[in-house]
Amino acid sequence: MSASEEKPRNVLIIGSGPAGHTAALYAARANLSPLMFEGAQPGGQLTITTDVENYPGFPHGILGPDLMTAFREQSVRFGVEIITADVTKVDLSRRPFKVWAGEKAHLAQTVIVSSGASAKLLNIDSERMLMGHGVSACATCDGFFFKGQELIVVGGGDTAMEESNFLTKFASKVYVVHRRDKLRASKIMQARAEKNPKIDFIWNSEVIEILGVEQKKVRGVKLRNVKTAEVMEMPIGGVFVAIGHQPNTKLFEGQLDLDEFGYIRTHNGTYTSVAGVFAAGDVQDRTYRQAVTAAGTGCMAAIDAERWLEAQHG
Ligand code: NAP
Repeated sequence: MSASEEKPRNVLIIGSGPAGHTAALYAARANLSPLMFEGAQPGGQLTITTDVENYPGFPHGILGPDLMTAFREQSVRFGVEIITADVTKVDLSRRPFKVWAGEKAHLAQTVIVSSGASAKLLNIDSERMLMGHGVSACATCDGFFFKGQELIVVGGGDTAMEESNFLTKFASKVYVVHRRDKLRASKIMQARAEKNPKIDFIWNSEVIEILGVEQKKVRGVKLRNVKTAEVMEMPIGGVFVAIGHQPNTKLFEGQLDLDEFGYIRTHNGTYTSVAGVFAAGDVQDRTYRQAVTAAGTGCMAAIDAERWLEAQHG
């Protein structure tokens, strides 16, 4: 069936993290028959973490992948139609909007963008294998599990400084490993980290391997000095990669108003620069980036979409 023959959906949701599923749940319960594209790797960033202890309602914590399975089950229970495919193209220039997954176009009266953000990673094999087993890209999510341990934080920007400071609440020592001898972070964040007696800096160094793959638990790192090429092994309990995040907004460049970092600009709740397109979760949030805030904005986006649709037909 071509796009022109298909009846436009009331609500089409791009992304399947906490924001997408909460939007889907609310839209489904408002009888809007939402269609969700969950992507080729469903569930968002929580699927690459282990225990989640700060999502309210789970007094004993829950594994990230289990939480996302529960989100999905709840969406399915209320009749959300889910397509397991990546959206490859969108046309938001006129309504109904067009959203493609491969060759096939789908039409929609409203679109909720909840495509999330991805933590930038070092892209070494051992990092991938130990993610959630001592390697993390989120100190707020995982710092608590490293009480009394020595950790490294990779990066030299504000995120690395913020994460390092936060981690000193739990860790006995935090080593910031930076590839240059000068931080990129703002002066105030630098000063705060430099003043913290639990933080030390390892300059001109990069992590070339994370040790512990055999035990499935981080036990150390191999660092290479980029100036001297000298390699040293360092025992460590955990590795936090804090080299920035990348909002997943490539599809929307030139169509939605993005900020200087590529995040979707929202106003009046979850409205974007295009009427009928709403954004929720990390794709529009550079500040909080939590599962619970993503879920909250997903709820807001569904309510905004519902009211906007009512106003169109009103
Ligand atoms: P960022 O400013 O882009 O810094 C990324 C850091 O990671 C840089 O120091 C960079 O090194 C390093 N890096 C990048 N790729 C690397 C790799 N492959 N291997 C090793 N190191 C790598 O990102 P950010 O720190 O996430 O900050 C993003 C924006 O958010 C900034 O504007 C920042 O001010 C803002 N922010 C603000 C706050 C706050 O004010 N509370 C908190 C967090 C973030 P080089 O320096 O050598 O490029």
